Amino acid sequence: TTPLRRAVEQASWASLLPPHRADGDDQPIGAPLYLDALDLAPGRWLTIIADAADRTYPVPLVAAGSGLRRARAGDGAAEALAGLLAAGSREVGAFSLTGWHAEPVTGEAPIDVDQTNESVVLGGRGVVKWTFQATEGPHPAPAILELLERAGFTGTPRPWGLVQWRPSRTAAPRLIASVTAYLPGAVDGWTWAVEDLRRACTEGPDAVRAPGRRLGELVARFHLALLPTHRPADLADVARWQGEALADLRRALEVTTGAEHAQLARHRDVIAARAVPPSELAGTPMLLGHGDLHVGQVLRAGESYAVIDFDGNPVVPPAQRTSAQPPALDVAGMAQSIRHAGLVLRKHHPELDPGRVERMTGVFVEAFLAAYRATLAGARRPDLLEEALVRPFRLRQVCREFTYAATHLPRWAYVPTGALPELVKGAR
Ligand code: ADP
Ligand code: MG
Ligand code: MG
Repeated sequence: TTPLRRAVEQASWASLLPPHRADGDDQPIGAPLYLDALDLAPGRWLTIIADAADRTYPVPLVAAGSGLRRARAGDGAAEALAGLLAAGSREVGAFSLTGWHAEPVTGEAPIDVDQTNESVVLGGRGVVKWTFQATEGPHPAPAILELLERAGFTGTPRPWGLVQWRPSRTAAPRLIASVTAYLPGAVDGWTWAVEDLRRACTEGPDAVRAPGRRLGELVARFHLALLPTHRPADLADVARWQGEALADLRRALEVTTGAEHAQLARHRDVIAARAVPPSELAGTPMLLGHGDLHVGQVLRAGESYAVIDFDGNPVVPPAQRTSAQPPALDVAGMAQSIRHAGLVLRKHHPELDPGRVERMTGVFVEAFLAAYRATLAGARRPDLLEEALVRPFRLRQVCREFTYAATHLPRWAYVPTGALPELVKGAR
């Protein structure tokens, strides 16, 4: 056994994991088991550590005293990783390094926002995101970023590079770390969209028309950049959407209780009828998309908007996360999240007239949809949006929000509860 392996296997998980993930989901069980390491710099490694359930945790490590600990901002592991990627794409053992862009950067600072993984800001210009748990591959981000980079897409922080790792010769690679440009002062849409809606309520609809238009253009340009992955849906795809819609409704009915359950049960037939896409949609265009698109995935810094987080939908199996989907899925996700931002605003500002919040939310959604359609039309691809899929996917999303609230975050239940009526109204 090497000294590195010995030191890892004697370390406690607490010294290996990021402090903000010291409890909650996906905690390792049993003792740390060393699997692999990429040398970053003298005394600095990017290791892959497994738990007793065979889950893999990528861990940047730094030598400290007679042992090791997780590298944090200031230890130079993130800087060293950016330096390695600057030397270009290559394979190093089971690690695969992709380098698209490099800048000389020095200085590391932690990112202090709510996050799933752990990100470190490099010299105020780049961000290294260390994956918390490397789940089964393939991961969608490498392919999406490659296509966006090739298309010269400017609506995402510029990708600098990434690291993947293969658990065995035949297994799909897992995403271990990624590096992108840093957008100083950026906030995500759960902040900016809610704030714009609040301003629209007092200052008028222009406060949401402009951002709605920018969002629509952004999402359309994103889809157009992914056109090389285009393929038509077949009958099996349509059957899968139909099955998923019913499964998501069934699951929501199973896990909800009380008022939420009663509301869902009351509308179950309408939801089932409207969430299941018609079989005639075989042939509709599909392409690699975001898969988990909502306002929280769009950063705004000053006047610029950037879509981030190409991890795909965490609730769908890995093979599906890397396959084409109807663009309507992302459109529905974004439109529905704008609705949800309106409900968040109403919750936090009960003094605002609810009718006015609802109208401004409607203006925001319509501006988004109109700009999305217009941008596709301008590129002579209006066919990419299958309108008949938008409501089914919105309803499916609301079912998933009921499930999420019931299983993870009860205080979120007011959102699906408030969102459902619009989508089931007019039914007899
Ligand atoms: P995670 O998957 O770990 O949650 P995200 O990619 O969603 O990570 O980023 C988490 C947060 O970090 C974002 O909501 C945003 O506030 C900030 N952030 C992420 N990327 C950037 C960037 N390129 N520039 C500025 N801030 C960023
Ligand atoms: Mg994420
Ligand atoms: Mg995110």
